[in-house]
Amino acid sequence: MKRPIYVTQPSMPPLDEFIPYLEQIWDNRILTNGGPFHQKLEHALCQFLGVKHISLFTNATIALITALQALEIEGEVITTPYSFVATAHSLMWNGISPVFVDIDPTSLNMNPRRIEAAITSKTTAIMPVHCYGHPCEVDQIDQIAQKRGLKVIYDAAHAFGVNCHCGSVLNHGDLSVLSFHATKVFNTFEGGAIVCRDEAMKKHIDNLKNFGFVNEVTVTTAGINGKMNEISAAFGLLQLKTIHDAISRRQRIDGMYREGLAGVNGVRCLPKTDEKTSNYSYFPILVDAKYPMSRDSLYQLLQQHDIHTRRYFYPLISTFPMYRGLPSASAENLPVATQAANQILCLPIYPALSDVDVARIIGIVSSGK
Ligand SMILES: *Cc1c(COP(=O)(O)O)cnc(C)c1O
Repeated sequence: MKRPIYVTQPSMPPLDEFIPYLEQIWDNRILTNGGPFHQKLEHALCQFLGVKHISLFTNATIALITALQALEIEGEVITTPYSFVATAHSLMWNGISPVFVDIDPTSLNMNPRRIEAAITSKTTAIMPVHCYGHPCEVDQIDQIAQKRGLKVIYDAAHAFGVNCHCGSVLNHGDLSVLSFHATKVFNTFEGGAIVCRDEAMKKHIDNLKNFGFVNEVTVTTAGINGKMNEISAAFGLLQLKTIHDAISRRQRIDGMYREGLAGVNGVRCLPKTDEKTSNYSYFPILVDAKYPMSRDSLYQLLQQHDIHTRRYFYPLISTFPMYRGLPSASAENLPVATQAANQILCLPIYPALSDVDVARIIGIVSSGK
């Protein structure tokens, strides 16, 4: 029996390599609260990612909520409907109204040319997403933000290790938030982080994620519990050792899909990127009317072969009941995102996916059976 294939499978280093890390935790009995592995992982990630400061979190959703708190964002925030629902939920949890703007048809990232028309007197920030790890048009977004006095928080959940023209894409905007969830390129079971550029902000964020404690007896803000535990941090350190190989393997699979699907009528791949500007975290295809069956029929066909793809991002965030009443949530305001949501299909991509399985998936998509 063939094993089912999911859209992703977490990278798991050999268990015996993890045991020494666990023994250290058992020996020193420090399980959380910024212990030695937490500190080591922060340091290692700053170096690996090429960023100044990083604060580890229990997950990216709490990190997004905390990032908004750290910058005291309120009122309205301009964001994209084409993302995982946590992007907009982090705004809701802060009592902020999301204002959705449409995406670019080529990159599927927030269209910067739509931002200015969405700014009102209540707008305080922009929250774009580096969708599938492909960098947003960061220069344009930063420029608009500067001109209009807005903060920028990037949901960089997909953008681990991604660079743009001037080094890490995580150095753009005021803050960037990473996710280390099991389904992401780099995982700590559950986890996330906020990337920032100055020491004072890093201290402020560390303070916010630990209930607002600055010392044993002093609480300065209504903080939250967002700390990453030691087992997760240790797992991250171990996984970092093989991340280059993991991303190279993903790159190879990306190349196989592009070649294999190039001549398939009605299937479009997103523009090719290189190993600097991509981490190959997803392999999205757009299935249009020229394909012999609908996107959902292809999704089901693959499922019949025990290949479980995902329609990231369908449905659009703006269609969920807590958002669909917003004026910016209408399909007329979001035609490109609406079309992408109806055409998108993310094919399986992860280091342990074999060439044989990739070829099999290409065969099914090409033949429609
Ligand atoms: C995964 C993801 C999140 C949430 O990350 P968690 O670590 O699971 O909380 C937020 N935004 C985007 C775009 C994501 O893909």
